[in-house]
Amino acid sequence: MQKHFFFDLDNTLTPSKSLIEAAHLPILKRLAERADVIVVSGHGEADIRSHLTEALHGAFYTLGQNGNRANTKDGDILWNNSLQQGQRDSILAFIAKARALLNYTVRDENDIVEDRDSQIAFSLIGHHEDKAKKDAFDPRHEIRFKLLTDLASDVEALKVANVEVRIGGTTNLDFFEYGKNKGYNVNLFIEKMGWDKLDCIYIGDALFPGGNDETVVGVIATHAVKDYKETYSYLSDILLNS
Ligand SMILES: [Mg+2]
Repeated sequence: MQKHFFFDLDNTLTPSKSLIEAAHLPILKRLAERADVIVVSGHGEADIRSHLTEALHGAFYTLGQNGNRANTKDGDILWNNSLQQGQRDSILAFIAKARALLNYTVRDENDIVEDRDSQIAFSLIGHHEDKAKKDAFDPRHEIRFKLLTDLASDVEALKVANVEVRIGGTTNLDFFEYGKNKGYNVNLFIEKMGWDKLDCIYIGDALFPGGNDETVVGVIATHAVKDYKETYSYLSDILLNS
């Protein structure tokens, strides 16, 4: 069994933007008693902790905002990379162009852009839209892939502005400092902790090309899951057999 388990959050440990399911709590808790658990998410630290609930308090490290804010199990800050104003302006210009192209009517105009300091998250239909609607929106990521392809020259312009964009969650594009993706930050975290990469594994639902977990491929071993249910059957097997 590995010593250090890195996980994506949305659709890997929990349903998207939702609390961990009650039946899964004891599995993750048992794992955290036997290994380090590190949660690497586009969400910020507060969201990660609330989605995994009080029951898991102090049981895991957080690499929030794709790892641009790192916290210990007790909540101490290891590092925090804030976006610069110029990067923010470029991201908001990109989102405005994307929205004009999509031309969607959304339920709440104020629910589209979340500025999380180290990262801006753009939901194409709304961060707090109906969950079933979100799940059905773009399950094969085709809408967001097409958007990024249609806006290829704007993705290049973001790069010049030192911004990276990745598909995240069920309806999102995540924007953060170029190169400061999950893979980069997982690598930095392992170095900082003095761990051996061979003792580490990353589990995520977006390890496919363009997904926000993809950058971890090649950094440490990875295990792709279809959804959070698959994560817990995988973990149950590991716990049973070691
Ligand atoms: Mg995910």
